[in-house]
Amino acid sequence: MTGSAARSALAALLGAESVLPNVPAHYLVDATESRGVRGSAEAVVLPETAEDIAHAVAWCYEHGVPIVPRGGGTGFAGGAVPVEGGVVLGLERLRQVRSVQPHAWRMHAEAGVPTATVRRLARENGLFFPPDPGAAEQSHIGGNIATNAGGPHAFKYGVTGEWVLGVEAVVAPGELVTFGGPVRKDAAGYDLASLMVGSEGTLGVITTAWLRLIPAPEATLSVAAFYPTLERGCEAVAEVIESGVAVAALEFLDGGTLTAAHSFPGGVPQGAAFLVLANADGSFAEAARVRDEAVEVFRPGALRVDAPSEQKAAAAIWSWRDGVSLAVTARHGGKLSEDIVVPFERLQEAIEGTLEIGARYGLEACSWGHAGDGNLHSTFMFAREDEEAVVRAEAGAEELFSLAVALGGSISGEHGIGLTKRGRLALQWSPRGLALHRAVKQAFDPENLLNPGKKL
Ligand SMILES: Cc1cc2nc3c(=O)[nH]c(=O)nc-3n(C[C@H](O)[C@H](O)[C@H](O)COP(=O)(O)OP(=O)(O)OC[C@H]3O[C@@H](n4cnc5c(N)ncnc54)[C@H](O)[C@@H]3O)c2cc1C
Repeated sequence: MTGSAARSALAALLGAESVLPNVPAHYLVDATESRGVRGSAEAVVLPETAEDIAHAVAWCYEHGVPIVPRGGGTGFAGGAVPVEGGVVLGLERLRQVRSVQPHAWRMHAEAGVPTATVRRLARENGLFFPPDPGAAEQSHIGGNIATNAGGPHAFKYGVTGEWVLGVEAVVAPGELVTFGGPVRKDAAGYDLASLMVGSEGTLGVITTAWLRLIPAPEATLSVAAFYPTLERGCEAVAEVIESGVAVAALEFLDGGTLTAAHSFPGGVPQGAAFLVLANADGSFAEAARVRDEAVEVFRPGALRVDAPSEQKAAAAIWSWRDGVSLAVTARHGGKLSEDIVVPFERLQEAIEGTLEIGARYGLEACSWGHAGDGNLHSTFMFAREDEEAVVRAEAGAEELFSLAVALGGSISGEHGIGLTKRGRLALQWSPRGLALHRAVKQAFDPENLLNPGKKL
């Protein structure tokens, strides 16, 4: 079927306002665009209701047309990029927060609500939605669930999936179903709500979610400790975990990242080769106590330890941290960043391995990320127009995946497999484990039309 025939048929079914007259280029890319990932599609559909999504999926299933669910398009794995053509199904018009129930510590939100809105609404009601992936103004709650997104505070609070009580989703061949719901516990049946978490649009289209909230911490304070060597910095990460000081976030930046993101509030001290950032939260007294204990652990061997007592100064450190990914991209115009994860005590080996692989491929490399979770954004930088460097970076990424698995870790800690890591699951899953993955996919999507070419 031609693109214009598909668009006409879908417009007749859903209404003209739900089908774009053409296929704008920005619906064909996500945050992997700087490494040259781009797709093509016959139509972009922006349904207004879950029922319309069910109609769109039913039409696609009937006509053998691939369906690519799309949230905010901030994914780092090419998951929302339509690689086998078909219909891009944008969730951006499903923006209703159906209810915020402060007394029940719960929110019921449509999939297209931006992550930042969920967090802001929780705060306005004295509550806290802890998942804090970096592109919160652009990413959607549905996209966060579909990728099981993490973020700095996953160290204390866990990743997105731990805050999902239930989902409503459209599954093949176009049926609206509910898995879980507003209850806090549900031991009946298989945990299909959790199966949707991290499924990257390959099992169904998430339309709404019941989210669990908790009372907001009164205060959040930060500590930043600069070290002269990678080795001492990694020791400090291990020491704070082993000491039992309950920090809420535990992040790191290596020397190369500090060079790229040099505008740290208060400046980067001469000779700094590693930065450890921690957050302490809770009541005012508890946040101050945890911060002070963390300072004690961090001080030995540090070049400088900043522990501002003002929450505003602490917030400035974290808003700088939010800009690190963009600062690294800006260094040469392009970057390839993976999100490997290793047991936290092997962080140093993973960072050194990233530098060694980069050097062998003639690429400037750096790492930063969620130290407490052993989750690194191992990165190769290159000029955006340098296609040959992109090829070298892709080859380097293959070695990063093997490195992660050899260190006892995983090829993805938070961004998912998407397109850029598809076919690599065999590196860490047994043949039987892989066969079970395929059987799950087959049960949910027998015609392989839901985000084909991704994940498996
Ligand atoms: C600057 C920056 C910082 C980032 N920081 C973090 C971070 O700290 N932690 C982290 O985990 N990620 C981070 N990311 C990656 C990204 O923001 C997350 O993966 C996010 O969860 C993607 O959400 P999205 O709405 O943009 O999804 P998209 O990119 O649109 O889609 C991602 C995947 O989810 C699927 N999908 C989207 N919506 C639905 C739905 N409703 N139903 C079914 N499938 C769906 C898509 O098909 C695709 O496979 C960052 C990205 C950027 C650009």
